[in-house]
Amino acid sequence: MIMLFNRTKLVDILSGKNVNDYYMEYDKTQWYSKGEMKEYQLMKLKKLLKHCYNNVPYYNRIIKERGIDINNITSTNILEKFPVLTKEIIQNNYKDFIPKNINHIKGVKISQTGGTTGNILLKRTDANVRSSAWATYKRFQDWMGISGSTKILRLMGGHVAKHSLKDNIKEYIFNIVNNTISLNPYDKSDKNIKRIQSVLENKGISSIKGYSQSLFFLARLFEDRSVSFNIDSITTTAEPLMDEHRMKFKKVFGAESFDQYGCGEIGSIAYECNHHKGLHVAEERVILEFKDNIDLLITDLDNYAMPYIRYWNADQAIVSKEECTCGRKTLLLSRIMGRTCDYISCSDGKQLHWAYFWHLLFDTGIAAKRNMVKFQVLQNNINELNFRIVSNPLQKEDKDIIVNNMKMFIGKDIKVTFIQEKDIENAKSGKYRPVINNMI
Ligand SMILES: [Zn+2]
Repeated sequence: MIMLFNRTKLVDILSGKNVNDYYMEYDKTQWYSKGEMKEYQLMKLKKLLKHCYNNVPYYNRIIKERGIDINNITSTNILEKFPVLTKEIIQNNYKDFIPKNINHIKGVKISQTGGTTGNILLKRTDANVRSSAWATYKRFQDWMGISGSTKILRLMGGHVAKHSLKDNIKEYIFNIVNNTISLNPYDKSDKNIKRIQSVLENKGISSIKGYSQSLFFLARLFEDRSVSFNIDSITTTAEPLMDEHRMKFKKVFGAESFDQYGCGEIGSIAYECNHHKGLHVAEERVILEFKDNIDLLITDLDNYAMPYIRYWNADQAIVSKEECTCGRKTLLLSRIMGRTCDYISCSDGKQLHWAYFWHLLFDTGIAAKRNMVKFQVLQNNINELNFRIVSNPLQKEDKDIIVNNMKMFIGKDIKVTFIQEKDIENAKSGKYRPVINNMI
């Protein structure tokens, strides 16, 4: 722990961030009662809205137009007076979202964030929001039992080739600072797989960070070779982590899985603790509201360079009705449903979530029988689906089971074309998408 503090402090000094102070604070606030957390959020929200009124033209206009009294805020419910913020609104009013005092905000950085639907948004962050987000991540590492001396294998990235000297140096420093070894999860050559195996066996790795789909592929491969490991924890991000993934990771890597959720614009939002009852929302950082009980609206309490108030990021999540058994009282997300474009449209107007196809393949035993690695369902019109699958060849009986089941759920006129693939490419964002609905 001491090592972690020192290292975090060192990085703070080098990068102009303030992770350590936030981390110390969040170490305490994680045990706040619901009332205490509301107070804490209210304090941050008041400050943020004052900043918005004084410096951000878009919000100054909204606050005036709607007669919102920002000097007399008594509850976070004030947010309901604000409009939902969409990517389109930001794109159409881009200049009005630039704070007038931008030159006085510490550590402003501009980068791009790509949506899964290819909607590029310019992203602006400041030193405070980055520090706060990192601090919640450090706390998540505590929940996973990761300390400063824990060696981590990072199986991420690689979908975008980065070969410049600057990128290499950056990665080199990142790996040293974070006690991490980085390998490419997408290189499926025998040489790379052996390298991953050797690192897991010989380098004292006790935690893996990666995407669930590529880790699942690796686990299958190691299982076939009767290789297993003794790793403590696996953390996954960006892609859905299903129960079948968790079971396989336990079996092959020996590891407990910890899911996390965030989005490009806001950063970290929720993390799973070691009681595995759902994902704890980092309520010190964000206020979540739910449109129609399922669509996330996010208010980022820390980002002054680009304020997001009631931002609709097109993700959906289900709130747990129960509290976590760990004693933390924060809002708990029982499931992240993913994007609205992760649904297939049915002829009766129903939307079918991608998880349906996942369960169809696993519950019928087809996934195990045909050694399924990956699938993707593509919809171009209401009655036609392309079912891409990486597996041993599906037999007629498998296809009949799949199609008959789909007819019951999607409509009896559905036509399914099966395509056996060697691999299924990731989306431009680098994420694997189990469903692509081109009709939305
Ligand atoms: Zn918990």
